[in-house]
Formats: sequence, C-alpha cells, structure tokens
Amino acid sequence: MQKGNIGITTENIFPIIKKFLYSDHEIFLREVVANAVDATQKLKTLASTGNFKGELGDLTIRLSLDKEAGTLTISDRGIGMTAEEVDKYINQIAFSGANDFLEKYKDDANAIIGHFGLGFYSTFMVAKRVDIITRSYQDGAKAVKWTCDGSPSYELDETDKADRGTDIVLHIDDDCKDFLEKSRIDTLLNKYCRFLPVAIAFGKKQEWKDGKYEDTEADNIVNETNPLWTKQPSTLKDEDYKKFYQSLYPMNDEPLFWIHLNVDFPFHLTGVLYFPKIKNNIDIRRNLIQLYCNQVFVTDQVENIVPDFLTLLHGIIDSPDIPLNVSRSYLQSDANVKKISSYITKKVADKLAAIFKTDRNVFEEKWEDLKLFIHYGMLSDEDFYAKAKDFMLLQDVDGKHYTLDEYKTLTESNQKDKDEQLVWLYAQEKDAQYSYIETAQKAGYNVLLFDGQLDTPLVQLLEQKLEKTRFSRVDSDTIDRLIQKADAAKSTLSDDDDNLLRTAFESVLPKQDKINFHVETAAGGQTAAPLLITQSEYMRRMKESARFQPGMSFYGEMPDMYSLVLNTDNALIGKIVDALRNDTSEDLKPIVAELKGLRARHAALEQQQENGKDDAEDIKKTREEAIEQAHADIEEQEKKRTDIVGKVAKENTKIAQLIDLALLQNGLLKGEALSRFINRSTELL
Ligand code: ADP
Repeated sequence: MQKGNIGITTENIFPIIKKFLYSDHEIFLREVVANAVDATQKLKTLASTGNFKGELGDLTIRLSLDKEAGTLTISDRGIGMTAEEVDKYINQIAFSGANDFLEKYKDDANAIIGHFGLGFYSTFMVAKRVDIITRSYQDGAKAVKWTCDGSPSYELDETDKADRGTDIVLHIDDDCKDFLEKSRIDTLLNKYCRFLPVAIAFGKKQEWKDGKYEDTEADNIVNETNPLWTKQPSTLKDEDYKKFYQSLYPMNDEPLFWIHLNVDFPFHLTGVLYFPKIKNNIDIRRNLIQLYCNQVFVTDQVENIVPDFLTLLHGIIDSPDIPLNVSRSYLQSDANVKKISSYITKKVADKLAAIFKTDRNVFEEKWEDLKLFIHYGMLSDEDFYAKAKDFMLLQDVDGKHYTLDEYKTLTESNQKDKDEQLVWLYAQEKDAQYSYIETAQKAGYNVLLFDGQLDTPLVQLLEQKLEKTRFSRVDSDTIDRLIQKADAAKSTLSDDDDNLLRTAFESVLPKQDKINFHVETAAGGQTAAPLLITQSEYMRRMKESARFQPGMSFYGEMPDMYSLVLNTDNALIGKIVDALRNDTSEDLKPIVAELKGLRARHAALEQQQENGKDDAEDIKKTREEAIEQAHADIEEQEKKRTDIVGKVAKENTKIAQLIDLALLQNGLLKGEALSRFINRSTELL
C-alpha cells in the first residue's frame, strides 16, 4: 500500500476549499459528473480511432444514494485510471503561487476550481471522505482504490473492481446532509447536467401502481444527450424549436422568432436564442439565457458575455471558448468574449433584418412585442443601432408603419419649418391628445404614436442621429407654431387690450398644485379654437428623462408647465375683449391715467439717475428713493387694475367656461373645479 501527501504547495487547501467556497458548494456535482462524461467520451474517441478494441457496452453514467452509509456514488464506464494515473492526475496537483491565487480569488469558487483543475477536489466541499475506485480500460490494468479524508494525506491501494471505469464515492459531511436527499440531487442534475452528452441515470423510472409510485425496471435518464442546439438547423422544424422553448420555459408564451447560432471560427459557439414577447416592462424575464460549456451548464448570469440588451432574449449559448472559470470582471476584457458578444449582436440584428426584408407583414405584426427590445438595443449598442436604423419602425396614430427613410419621404414635402428642419409630430396618448391629433391631421400633418416605455430616450437619440429633424408632441404648441412656416403672427390687439385680456384670464385660472400656467396671446387664425393649452416640449421631456436618469430627479420635482394660448383672431375672444373693455373702462380710467403719469415719472427719474452718475452721493440717494417710491406706486395701481379686471372677469362666465373646457380637454379639470364647471354648465343651459 502506498501512503503519502498530496503534492500541493498549500498545506491546507481543503479547509480553504471548504470555508471560502461554501456558497458555491453544489457545483461539486457538476464537476464529478463532467469528469465522468469526459472519461466516457475519451473512451469513445479511443474506440473510434481503433486504439480501444474492446466492447464499449452500456456507457450510462450512474448516480446512487445510500442514505444509511451516507454516500453519494458517481459511476462511469469510461477510461478509468491506472495507479500511475491516479498519482499523476489526482495526487500531484502541482502549481505555483497557489497561496497568492487562493487569497485573490477566495470568494470565487469557479475561478479556483477551473484555474487549477481542482474540479475533482471540489467534492471536499461536501464530503468528509472521498474514495476513487477505478480500473483503466487498458488490458490487464489492476483496479485501485484511492481514499482521502480531506487532509493532505491519502491512501492508494489495489482493490477488486470487476468492470472498467471509475466510481467516485462521496462520504457526505454531516453538515451537508441535504446532498443525501433524492430531491436535492434531482434538482442539481436538472440544473447542471440536463443536456450532458452521455446518458446519466439516477434511480429508476417510477410508475403509478396500487395507489403509489413504484420503481420500474427502466433507468431514470435525467438528461437529453442531443439537445436541439447541437443538431443541424436543416434537420429541424419550427415545431422542434417551439417545443424546446416550452421545455426550457414551461410558463412562457410562444417565442416570436429564434436564431440558431453555429460558428467554428474564430471561436466555437453553438446555441439557440429566442425572442420572447416583451411587453412594457424591461425588467422582468431577464437572465433567461443559459450558458453552457460543451453541454455542461455553467451559469445563467450572462451579463458580461452578451450586451445588456441581449439579456432580454432567452435560450442557450454553448461555447468552450468562453473562459468560464475566471472572475466575472475579467470576462469583460477578454478578447474572445468581446468577439462572441459582437458576433451575437450581429446575428440578432441580421435575423431581424432578414425577417423585415422577407416578411415585412409578420415583422409589422410583431412590432409591438419587439419594439422594446429593438429600442433598447439601439439605445445601448452603437453597432446594433447602425443595423436597426434600417428596420426599426415608426407607427403613426392610425396604425401604419414606416421605416425612418420612408417616414422622411412621407413628411419631407410639408413638415419642414422655415429653417428647413423636418418636424415629426407625435402623440403619447391617443385619447388624451385626440383633439390636438385631429388639428394636426387637418393641417395635413402625420402624427406618430410613441407610447412605449423607451420612447422618450429614443426620441432624444433619433434627434442626435438624424439630420435636421426634431420631434414635437402635438400638444406642445399651437398648430402654426408646431411647424413654423413663417415668422409667427403677433396678437392683433392693441397693447392695452392684450394686457386686459391676459389679466382677465390669469385671474380666473384655477390655482393647482404642481401646475404652472402661463397665459399668452397669438393670432391663430379665425377658424382656430379660441383657447389652447400647450405643454412645453423641452420641460416635459426633461421631466420624462428624469425618470430614467437618477441624477435628474431635480427636474422630476418641478411643476408641470403649461401655456394657455388665447387666439386673438377668434371671434369669441374678440367679443370677450369688447365686453371686458366696456365693463372696466369707467373704473379703469383714473387708474390708467394715474399709471401713465407714474410710468412717465419713473422713466424720467431713471434717465436722470443714468445721466447723473457723477452727482453727489446724497443726491443720487434721494433720487434712488424716488425711483423706488414710483415703482411701488405703479405696483399699487397695477394691483388695483388687476383687482378691477379680475372682478369683472369673474362675472364673465364665458371666460371661466372657456378655461374649464380647455382644462377638461387636457384632463386637468378635477375636484371642486370640475364640479363648479358642471354646475355652471347646467345653469347656462
Ligand atoms: P480537470 O477535469 O479539470 O482536468 P479534475 O480535478 O476534475 O480536473 O480531474 C483531474 C483529472 O483526473 C482529470 O483530468 C482526469 O484525468 C482524471 N479524472 C477525474 N475523474 C475521472 C474519471 N471519472 N475517470 C477517469 N479519469 C478521471
């Protein structure tokens, strides 16, 4: 019998494995089963090259639990090991700088295990003792048994083993007893071994008999050895892809499309990616891509391997060329990972482009479910933008779809403003913005519908990318200022009347929390509405963007800014001005005269002050006081004026009615104001 110490420079590697790698300790099962698969495939290769002439026989890998003995055994009929090989592959884990490395990666089990080929030793995370009973495939090889109790000493001895191959017997630790539960092993096999290329049997298939489940004769095979992505695409039907998707995600809706990935150069990659239906929430259903390495499950955290927007896809990526066993932060800078990532991005974009080209109808039909994904891709990935700009669709309020180029052609002739800027109008809520949409359409403009979660940032992006094009929401201005074709027509009223009109409306406007109104006048044409509420495009967008960018919450807190635009060309407004003028002229006469005098005095004083810069300080001070007094007097008179106008305005039900109608149209009339409006309307009837 041979006794000795495992050739490891670190005396106490097992305590380290146990202690630091605790969180990931379930991966031991993946490691031992993957070793068994390797050993089996090596034997198959030897057989196919004529280097092994014996019977391959049943190559199923078998797992068995013995609760009483407290063991989990993994048995294969692969190449097995001779005593020399055990010595070489198991005993001499020779590596340099182990201490440094362990210290650096002590929190990353994968890194340690992979880097040093410690796969097998991960069993010591869960086992207090491990036996390897193995017999090499080579003619006349003697079976050996290796035993180690987790200290750096082992025993290696000859033993009896009838069959070729290896049994790994794990004597499960007392604090890891859950690995003796069948259900726990079932779960782990399903997670890590579901698609391994060699059949794995765990127990027997069960059958419902006499009111309970009973074992049958048949092995319970837990894996699918030839999963869909390993097959030739030409041999597969749509149904196969859908069925595979169903088996991966039983709770999900049918996928929209899929891409079968298959490259050999400059890296190896296979897999199948599915486009799920993504409704208006990008946060759900992430992390549904599973990463495999030669059909061994590695992780479903693919953040650093594919661009962020692709994590919205579902499916499988299988590549031996992704360095899986290094720390996550290292992955990002790995050249292979970068290539793989851009390959996948390109494939996805090409697939979408192909569907768009060959089957535009289908593409349009599925646009609703695709757009969030495509928008997200365009926003986050330059390369994807470059491709997607040719197939991304704009949808107008009537449900018609256009590419960016098509939409440019459609709008070029009549939606350019006087500065040759193309203005693309959009609505966010078809119902709420109905009348604005209607007005724009009557003016011969097309109106887009932007009701998606990422439309606000997308609009900003398109404005940066497209030349001389800007977006305006239909209610952000009056129709002739939305796409301003000539210099704006000014109010047609005299200054006094204009002032009177604005003051009257200002004094009747209901005060609302977090909403600011600015009253202005404009000549909007005789047929246009008397009054329109608009919301500044800039401020509204800032507030919307604040939702996406945490640093901008300041904007989110700002009140909503609306303009109340009075159309001075409108006959009703004209009548209101006349009435206001009549009803106030008597009372305003002395105030107007007074104001005229005060303003003249104020202006004269300011002029004197300006000219008399070199006067003595006390003279300047006296004048300054006089200016302040004049200013205060003006304010007092203006307040009187406002009060008088306000009083008259409040008695003019037309003003209140007009304001309320406009507010109502914008969903801004609520609570008490709404009930007052209803009462007033009834009285008017
Ligand atoms: P790795 O698999 O990364 O090489 P491991 O520590 O898991 O590292 O295994 C070390 C070596 O032990 C393997 O490379 C293989 O030569 C040998 N080995 C492990 N398990 C088996 C097995 N079931 N049958 C034959 N050889 C095995």
